Amino acid sequence: MGKPAKHPPPEALDKTAAEAPAAPSPATTAQQAFVPPPGATPMMAQYLEIKAGHPDALLFYRMGDFYELFFDDAVAAAAALDIALTRRGKHLGEDIAMCGVPVHSAEAYLNTLIRKGFRVAVCEQTEDPAEAKKRGSKSVVRRAVVRLVTPGTLTEDTLLEARASNYLAAVAVIREETALAWVELSTGALAVAPVAPGAIGAQMARLAPSEVLLAEPDGANDASALLVAAAEQAGAVVTPRARAAFDSQAGGERLKRLFRVASLDGFGAFSRVEIAALGALADYLELTQQGRLPMLRPPRREAVDAVMRIDAATRRNLELMRTLSGAREGSLLAAVDRTRTGAGARLLAERLSAPLIDPAAIAARHDAVDWLAARPDAAAVLDATLAETPDLERALSRLALGRGGPRDVAAVRGALQAAATLPPSLAPADPSALAPLPVEIDAALAALTGHDALRQTLEDALADSPPLALSQGGAIRAGHDGDLDRARQLSAEGRGVIAGMQRDLAQATGIDSLKIKHNNVLGYFVEVTARHAERLHENPEFRHRQTLANAHRFTTEALAETENAILNAGARAAEIEARLFAGLVEAVLAEHGALTGVAAALAMLDVALSAARLAGDGGWVRPVVDRSRSFAITGGRHPGVEAALRREGRSFVPNDADLSAGADGPAPLWLVTGPNMAGKSTFLRQNALIAILAQAGLYVPAEAAHLGVIDQVFSRVGAADDLAAGRSTFMVEMVETAAILNQAGPAALVILDEIGRGTATWDGLSIAWATLEHLHDVNRCRGLFATHYHELTALADRLPALAPVSVRVREWEGEVVFLHEIAPGAADRSYGVQVARLAGLPDAVVDRAREVLSRLEARDRDGDATGAADIGAALDGLPLFAARPTPPPPAPAADSGLIEALAALDPDALSPREALDALYRLRALLPKA
Ligand code: ATP
Repeated sequence: MGKPAKHPPPEALDKTAAEAPAAPSPATTAQQAFVPPPGATPMMAQYLEIKAGHPDALLFYRMGDFYELFFDDAVAAAAALDIALTRRGKHLGEDIAMCGVPVHSAEAYLNTLIRKGFRVAVCEQTEDPAEAKKRGSKSVVRRAVVRLVTPGTLTEDTLLEARASNYLAAVAVIREETALAWVELSTGALAVAPVAPGAIGAQMARLAPSEVLLAEPDGANDASALLVAAAEQAGAVVTPRARAAFDSQAGGERLKRLFRVASLDGFGAFSRVEIAALGALADYLELTQQGRLPMLRPPRREAVDAVMRIDAATRRNLELMRTLSGAREGSLLAAVDRTRTGAGARLLAERLSAPLIDPAAIAARHDAVDWLAARPDAAAVLDATLAETPDLERALSRLALGRGGPRDVAAVRGALQAAATLPPSLAPADPSALAPLPVEIDAALAALTGHDALRQTLEDALADSPPLALSQGGAIRAGHDGDLDRARQLSAEGRGVIAGMQRDLAQATGIDSLKIKHNNVLGYFVEVTARHAERLHENPEFRHRQTLANAHRFTTEALAETENAILNAGARAAEIEARLFAGLVEAVLAEHGALTGVAAALAMLDVALSAARLAGDGGWVRPVVDRSRSFAITGGRHPGVEAALRREGRSFVPNDADLSAGADGPAPLWLVTGPNMAGKSTFLRQNALIAILAQAGLYVPAEAAHLGVIDQVFSRVGAADDLAAGRSTFMVEMVETAAILNQAGPAALVILDEIGRGTATWDGLSIAWATLEHLHDVNRCRGLFATHYHELTALADRLPALAPVSVRVREWEGEVVFLHEIAPGAADRSYGVQVARLAGLPDAVVDRAREVLSRLEARDRDGDATGAADIGAALDGLPLFAARPTPPPPAPAADSGLIEALAALDPDALSPREALDALYRLRALLPKA
C-alpha cells in the first residue's frame, strides 16, 4: 500500500472562522444536545459534532480528494496505517493532529484499519461546494456520515475474501432462552436459531462470525461473560449494543420495516428471543448503513439440532477450515475444495462447517453429486461455464445497498448468461427417455430458467466491458439510446472542434507553439510562451487571465462558447447514462428474489461438481448414511495427509475402522496403541473427517463407508496449551475432557488423542482409565482413543466394547519401519527411543536412554514397586551421564598432515595419472577412526 501523496492544505479548517455554525448533519440528529466549544471554527464545530455521534469509530472526514482524520483519530490511524501524521491549524490554542488518505485508494486503508480492529465512520460531503458558496462564500459544505464500516458489515470485493463468508451475528437472551441470528451482508443471507444452553460456543465456532453484537451487561446478567468468551474464541470482534437494541417488540417493528411487510407471519413463527436477535441485527444495519437498508432474504429459521454439533476445540483440532497455524492450505476445506466460483467455495465451507443429521437431506446432496459424477460430459460443460461465472450474490447485494457500479450489473448479466446455457446442456433433451433428475439438480435447473427478459434487457443496454464507475462514462452500449448517442457525439466532436480552433489560432497569430489547454479553474484557455505573449496582449480578442513563470494564458469569447456546448453535451450524456443505468439497476432489483435463487443454484451446482470431481480423480466414494449406529469404513484415508504425501511422491496407507454398534448398549471404543510417529493421530482424525464429509453431503476418501448419523463430534488432543486464555496445558486438557464426558450422547463420535498426557504418569493413567470407563458405560458413544499407556489394554477384559488395536511397525537392524497399518491387538512398546534417534537426538543421549529404559523394563518385569525412590533404586549403579566415557573427538586433520599435503598440490601441473596417485596419497593420510 503506497502512502498518500500529499494533503490538501487544511486552511479550510480556519478560513471559515467568522461564519455561522454549519447545518446539522442528518447522521447526528440524535446528538442535538451537542454544543461546540466556544472559539471553534465552523468547520471544526461541524467536525466535532459529527465525531460526537461516533465516539468509538475513526471518522473519515471528506475534504476534496482526501478523507482526513483529526485529533486522536489521526494519531491512531497514522500509527495503524504507517502514514505521516501532520499538525496543522489550531483548535482552542492547540495544534490539530491530522492525517489523511486519498479517496481513490481509501479501500486499501479501510481494509487495514478493519483488520486491525477499528471501526470507521465514513463522512461525505452531501452537497456540491458550489451550493455551499451560495449561502455565503465562507459557508461550510454540508457533510454527513453515510456509512459505518465494521468487520461484520463489509460488502466491497476488495475488503472481503471471495471464497469465505463474512457473518455478522447477534445473540439475544430472554430469561432462560437464547437465540443466535446471523447475516451475510454481502450476500443477503439471514438466519436465526434457538441455541441450547452450552451450545452457543459450538454454534459460534461453526459460523466464525467476524463481528458479534451482544447486549451490554446489566449486572444481573452473568451470562454475558460466557457469550463474550464464546464470540472471541470464534475469532469475532464483540460489539456491545444498548439493551434496547435487543427489545423484541421494537425488533419486530424494525424487521417489518426492513422487509416492508405488515406482519412477520409470512416468514414463519419466530419466538420472542429469535425476533430480539434478528431485531438487534436490523438495528445495527440501520445504524451502520445509515438508513440504506440492504435487500436481505427473508429470515430462515434453522431447526434446533438440525446440524451436527462440533465445538470450537474440535474444529480447531480437526483443522476443518484452517490448520492449527491458521492457514487455509492444509485444512480439510482446502483438501476438498475443487469449486470454481467464490459463491461455490463459500457454500462448501458453510456445508462443511454444518454437516446435516437428516439422512434424507444428506442423501439428496449425494444424489446430486452422483448424477454429475456419472455424466462427464455434463460435468465438463458445467465446469467450463462456472469458470466464467461472476459473483452474482455479492454484486446483487452491492446494487441493493446503492453501492453497485456498472460492473455489478455486468456481473448479473454474466451470471444470467451462464444460467441460460446450463439447463439445456445439463438436462436431458428428451425427458421421457430418462430417469427423473435428482431433486437438488432439478430445483437448481428450475431456478436457472426463466430470466431471459432481464438478461436480454441487460445485454441490449449494457456495454460489453463497462467501466468500474458510472462517472467514467461508457456504461451504456452505443446504439442503445438515440439521445445518448447524439449527446456523446456532440461532446466528442467538441474535442475535435477545439483541436481545429488551436490550428486556426496558431495560424492567425503566427504563433506555432500556441496551445489550447483545459483546467478546472479557467476551463479552456490559450497558452503561449512568455516570448509570444506580447502579440496576444495587443489583440483585443484575447483576454489575459494568468501569467506563469514561462507561460501566459488567455481566454476568448469563441472558446468559452465552444466549451459550453461541449460541457453541455458531456453533462447531458452523463445524465442520460445515469438515468438509463438507474433503470437497469431497478430492473435487476425487481427480480432480486429470483436472482438470489439463481445465485444459490449456481453455488449448489459448483459444490456438487467439486465433490464429483474428487470421485473421478482419486478414489472418493459415496457414503451410506442412515439412522443406524454403524460406523464401518473400508480403506479410509486422511485427505490432508494424503495430499501432503502425494506432493512428496509418497502414498498413503488406507485403513479400515469398524465401530458399528447395536441400537442400545455401549458402542465400540477402539483403544489405539502404537509407536510414536506410527500414524495414530492421523487414523483418529481421518475417521472424524470422513464422518463430517459424509454428513456434509460430500463424497469421502475411502473404498466404502457406512455411517449411522452422528449428531456430535468431539476431538481432543492431550497437552495443547492455551496460554492466551491463561490455562495450563493440563487444565485445558481436563476442561475439554470434562465437556465431552458431560455432553456426548449415544449418537456422538468421540476421538481422544493421548488424554492424560499432561501430568505425572500415574495421575494421567488413572484419568485416562476412568475416562475410558465413563465413555464405555455412561456415554456409550462410538469412539477412538489413542494412548501410550499400554496398561490401559488391561481394561479390555472388563469393558466388552473396548477393542485394542495397534499401528504396526517392523524392526529392521535396530531401526523402526513404520507400516501405518492398523491391526487388531495392542502394541507391545512405544519405540520412543528409536523415534528420538530418528529425530536427531545426540547418540550419547539415545544410548543413555536405552540403558535407563532397559533397567526400568527389567524392574517392571520383576514386579518391583513403582515409586520414584524405587526408580532411583532400579537405576542405582548405572554410571552417571557425566561420568560416562565420552567418545574421543575425531583427530584433527592437521595432525595427519592432510592439509599440508593438499596445499602442496598444484592441480594444473598434474597429469591424470599423477592426479590419481595424489588422491590415493591423500586418502592414506586420513585419520584412522
Ligand atoms: P505420536 O504418537 O508421536 O503423536 P502418531 O502415531 O500420532 O505419533 P501421526 O502424527 O498420526 O503419528 O503420523 C505421523 C506421520 O506418519 C504423518 O505425518 C504422516 O506423514 C505419516 N502417516 C500417518 N499415517 C499414515 C498412513 N496411513 N499412510 C502413510 N503415512 C502415514
